[in-house]
Amino acid sequence: MAGQRYLYDLADGDASMKPLLGGKGAGVAQMMKLGVPVPDGFTVTTAACVDAMSDGGAWPDGLWEETLAALSRLEERTGRGLGDPERPLLVSVRSGAVVSMPGMMDTILNLGIGDATVEALGREAGDPRFAWDSYRRFLQMYGEVVEGVPAHAYEDALTAMKRGRGVTEDTGLSTDDLRELVEVFKIVSRTHIGADLPEDPKEALRRAIDAVFRSWLNPRAGVYRRANGIADDLGTAVNVMQMVFGNRGDTSATGVCFTRNPATGARELYGEFLLNAQGEDVVAGIRTPRPLAEMEVVLPEAYGQLLEVMGTLEAHYRDMQDIEFTVEDEKLYLLQTRDGKRTAAAALKVARDLVEEGVLSREEALARIEPGQLDQLLHPALDPAHGQQPATRGLAASPGAAVGEVVFDSDTAERRGKAGDAVVLVRWETTPDDIAGTLVAQGVLTAHGGMTSHAAVVARGMGKPCVAGASDIASDAEASTLTIGDLTLTEGDAITLDGSTGEVFAGALALVPPQINEDFAVVVGWADDVRRLGVRANADNGPDAAKAREFGAEGIGLCRTEHMFMEQDRLPAVRRMILASDDAERANALEEILPMQQADFEAILEAMSGLPVTIRLLDPPLHEFLPSLVDQALEVQRLELAGDTHPTDLRHARALLAQIKKLTEQNPMLGTRGVRLALLYPEIPQMQVRAIARAALAVADRGGDPQVEIMVPLVAYAEELRRMRTLIAQTLEAEFAAAGRRLEVPIGTMIELPRAAVVADQIAEHADFFSFGTNDLTQTGVGISRDDAEGAFLSAYLDEGVVPDNPFVSIDVDGVGGLVEIGVQRGRSSKPDLKLGVCGEHGGDPASIAVFERLGLDYVSCSPFRVPIARFAAAQAVLV
Ligand code: PEP
Ligand code: MG
Repeated sequence: MAGQRYLYDLADGDASMKPLLGGKGAGVAQMMKLGVPVPDGFTVTTAACVDAMSDGGAWPDGLWEETLAALSRLEERTGRGLGDPERPLLVSVRSGAVVSMPGMMDTILNLGIGDATVEALGREAGDPRFAWDSYRRFLQMYGEVVEGVPAHAYEDALTAMKRGRGVTEDTGLSTDDLRELVEVFKIVSRTHIGADLPEDPKEALRRAIDAVFRSWLNPRAGVYRRANGIADDLGTAVNVMQMVFGNRGDTSATGVCFTRNPATGARELYGEFLLNAQGEDVVAGIRTPRPLAEMEVVLPEAYGQLLEVMGTLEAHYRDMQDIEFTVEDEKLYLLQTRDGKRTAAAALKVARDLVEEGVLSREEALARIEPGQLDQLLHPALDPAHGQQPATRGLAASPGAAVGEVVFDSDTAERRGKAGDAVVLVRWETTPDDIAGTLVAQGVLTAHGGMTSHAAVVARGMGKPCVAGASDIASDAEASTLTIGDLTLTEGDAITLDGSTGEVFAGALALVPPQINEDFAVVVGWADDVRRLGVRANADNGPDAAKAREFGAEGIGLCRTEHMFMEQDRLPAVRRMILASDDAERANALEEILPMQQADFEAILEAMSGLPVTIRLLDPPLHEFLPSLVDQALEVQRLELAGDTHPTDLRHARALLAQIKKLTEQNPMLGTRGVRLALLYPEIPQMQVRAIARAALAVADRGGDPQVEIMVPLVAYAEELRRMRTLIAQTLEAEFAAAGRRLEVPIGTMIELPRAAVVADQIAEHADFFSFGTNDLTQTGVGISRDDAEGAFLSAYLDEGVVPDNPFVSIDVDGVGGLVEIGVQRGRSSKPDLKLGVCGEHGGDPASIAVFERLGLDYVSCSPFRVPIARFAAAQAVLV
């Protein structure tokens, strides 16, 4: 763009210019403004990078002239010159994106060193070895980063030199050795590039800036951006700053520090330093850094100044700072400051302390907490110091970490889990039959299935760690082996899952326990004062409901009754009900199920006494309660091969197979389920409604306050709901008449089909409330399968940036969010006081909660362990 300014001296910038100067450039400029000592320099803006990248790498007009002018100014201010043989200026050329991308882009240090300047640098430092070592480091870094020389080319030469000298460490090489190594490195560079490195340091500077621009596009930076939701078109700034050396003898040092403890949040000195070292020595871990407190003894003046600066920076940013510093010849320089990354426990403590110290308001403190991070507090987590590489990754389906021995079937998991063994259930995908094993396993790993797959939903509900859809794994239950690439684990081998990141590790890693404490209670209390949205939980049994209440749930937004049907002791009766050959047989089976359902409902209503409990009538297609078609066909075959030793078994098996075939549908998700099933087999919802009415009456009789609501799933037509409402109301009336007392029971529906959203005004006439089922609404609205999409094209879509987020995790704002908006507007147009909630998995996702706040829903409902996160997110949604 003509006339645009592409470059700022540090003295001309400040923190507000972060989009243009990047985090590092704006941070250093702001420090300069605050009078904190920083090396002098200038920043080439992100806009310059964006314009260069959009023009095939060609620099925008005027940028080079601006760079040369800024360099002259820097030379003037420092009294040094780039390439000056007497007083050489050396600079670092560093990337600096708007959002920090640690280690993803390139840096060149010591630019300005060369044959002409190396001697002067040695003289000034009083240490020629340091100068020659800086020179060979520069050649190596410049060759690799700017000219693309493979790293091993220099490493091989260095190793050969060390071998020749009989030393193992770089430090064993003398000044003369390094002098010789510089000549060897020049040859290495020449051999690979076919030309000498530029003698002119200005040309080297131009190429170095260009290389940093290009590093924005390198593959690892691209992967990092996609993984962290950073836009590809932001570009990086480039910071050119005078080099300061922490490795100029024992009056120099380098280090990092935090203004508070980033692990606990405690207000205490936290940091480390190395005497006579460069920043990369600290990061690379070659030498063990010393605790910061020891700096007081060896560099007292710089230490005192550092403490003062830490106070200044924290007061300015009003947040814990993560600081990098260097001491050159007893003089302190700050190289970087940024808000410190912290554990969830530390985030809460810092928030609470900063409010108590009068630095932040409660609202400001709340706005800074990342709700998703709080998962760390609610579940065991991996010890952050584990340092292991994952064997593979899948979807982070249910947070928390789990360690246990691999088992491949639910029965073994159940048996061993009940015996007190820690096991991890590994399955191709889970089915309802796996529930018993899931319940006792430490965690669940599946090769197939997405974020709303059965395994994921069930695990989240239970607060069990789950990694789903880890498609690299092949599990062979028959052979009891699990393979991940070259790695083979057999039943009983240890495995570790991190359901918060999707990582899977071989072996048993150390865990840290959940850490809910007083800070949590205090800060979440502030969130409750601020938020407008109600927060309920999705729970299907008494213990989960009780847990949800403990976490602050204000009711149950979704009780999925099918989960009760799937439990081992119910399944036989449920199957008898499905396979019944006549009405009487079906009625008998339902009579058997009714008391079990009633007991389940009583437990939930008791746990949630005084708070609303939305019970949803049966939703899944009936075949889900039967064995799979393939398994049953094999069973028939097995019995046939066994001859006629068990003729009754064979008859039964064939009948079952025939029934499974009859019920199996090509598209079961779009098939005979939800309200369709209820209208086809009214005796099933009748039984459920009876069980609900009796449970509520029983709880009320015991002095409880049951606030039950009945919800109908998968409604598309107003007429479906009208008919169901009549059936439900009549059944309730019959029960209440028999009991001689009545309870208020609102009747509502899920809005989980696009048609339902569009005709929400018609549907609302028969509903007391709506609950948006955003799982099915995403499936049907976007037209992507809940069970298959993530394992199929969706992950490629995410990698390639076709879609910004997984729509099953974060609501697709324009599409599915638009359907919710239509549902809200039309529903309220015919019934202004219609109560509106959401109970899909999005109800616990902070980004989606912000959308639901904007759309004016009354509450969100999510799995119990996400309730605290939703409370924070709902508060933040109000604060933005
Ligand atoms: C939904 O579809 O969003 C929902 C909550 O129902 P389920 O996940 O049980 O289909
Ligand atoms: Mg649904």
